[in-house]
Amino acid sequence: MTLRTLESLGSLAGKRVIVRCDLNVPLKDGQITDDGRVRASLPTLNALINQGARVVIVSHLGRPDGAPDAKYSLAPVAQRLSELLGKPVTFASDTVGSAAADAVAGLHDGDVALLENLRFNPGETSKDEAERQSFADKLAAFGDALVSDGFGVVHRKQASVYELAKTLPSAAGLLIAAELEVLDRLTENPESPYTVVLGGSKVSDKLGVIGHLLPRVNTLLIGGGMLFTFLAAQGHKVGASLLEKDQIDTVTGYLAKAKQLGVEIVLPTDVVVASAFGADAEHQVCAADAIEDSPWGASGLGLDIGPDTAARFAEVIRSSHTVFWNGPMGVFELTPFAEGTRTVAQALTEVDGLGVVGGGDSAAAVRALGFNDDQFGHISTGGGASLEFLEGKRLPSLEVLGWQQ
Ligand code: ADP
Ligand code: MG
Repeated sequence: MTLRTLESLGSLAGKRVIVRCDLNVPLKDGQITDDGRVRASLPTLNALINQGARVVIVSHLGRPDGAPDAKYSLAPVAQRLSELLGKPVTFASDTVGSAAADAVAGLHDGDVALLENLRFNPGETSKDEAERQSFADKLAAFGDALVSDGFGVVHRKQASVYELAKTLPSAAGLLIAAELEVLDRLTENPESPYTVVLGGSKVSDKLGVIGHLLPRVNTLLIGGGMLFTFLAAQGHKVGASLLEKDQIDTVTGYLAKAKQLGVEIVLPTDVVVASAFGADAEHQVCAADAIEDSPWGASGLGLDIGPDTAARFAEVIRSSHTVFWNGPMGVFELTPFAEGTRTVAQALTEVDGLGVVGGGDSAAAVRALGFNDDQFGHISTGGGASLEFLEGKRLPSLEVLGWQQ
């Protein structure tokens, strides 16, 4: 079986089509700071609008606690979506209540409605299958078919992507199809040299992917918050930097395995150490094995890779033909600690081959730093999902769409 595509649903003219998007955008003071995920959902939405379907969009936003919470309302997204689609988007102030029912009932062919945050309902993410199914049944009443296009959540068993896909005639949207095509290129005979760049905040989230990728890649570059666990595994002191002590043994194991396989794991030789976590903290570049020699001793915080490391990473990236990058190299949100991420992003735009950015914060970082999406081979909308794909894990909400790895 292969992924069921939009065409498999036949003509959708006049039909009510629920589209499960991932419109989980970063918001600051009610404003969208990166609308990449909204833009990524446009091809599927436009295809359905052009067919004359009645489009009912559902999505989650953030992690509300299964109850309405104004700060996670999708209302600002409805407005942005309307601007990008160039047509009105009816916003329903609930997901399966009377507002949603009215919005859906009021749709004409080619019209669009967005229902309020799925996660305002406990059934969406419930661990209890019956509870999820009962929520999916309520959603199903609004549609004749489901187009599943929220790539960021396909590694989850949640009502709108899993149970609903089994309840209604369902297929994958164009975004999921495009994401899978790129991930396939990263796993099926990627052109070497193949380099994976990992950063971000939590090493424990990304260890699985390191283990799985080691036999497939030529070089692994380690930056971000996770680099300190690697430095600690080599016996270095890391001051007050992010450190996951309980992962040191696993990391030590990977370093040994890499050596055995002939894979180069490149660790930073210099880092930017700061007196405190803040944009105006004092900071200086230190050797990676002498972090506690900074003026702030054991309270110094490593917040970015240093310039020598960034230059070395850039060189490796530029001379690779396949690169996958997940996780910022430093705390890019604070200007003094964004340089490592900027240098790596720049190098990725110069790859002669396929350069992929994966991860919500990584995508936000490259956009915040002024890069354009089209400078990269691909910017994935799903960090967790793409990592789990690369780890070779089963993705239940793709399997319900006919997909098999
Ligand atoms: P992604 O969403 O791309 O997968 P993560 O969520 O793993 O990335 O990590 C992103 C976060 O990691 C950013 O908010 C960034 O500030 C943080 N980060 C990067 N380097 C460090 C560091 N040295 N110390 C603390 N946080 C860091
Ligand atoms: Mg993140």
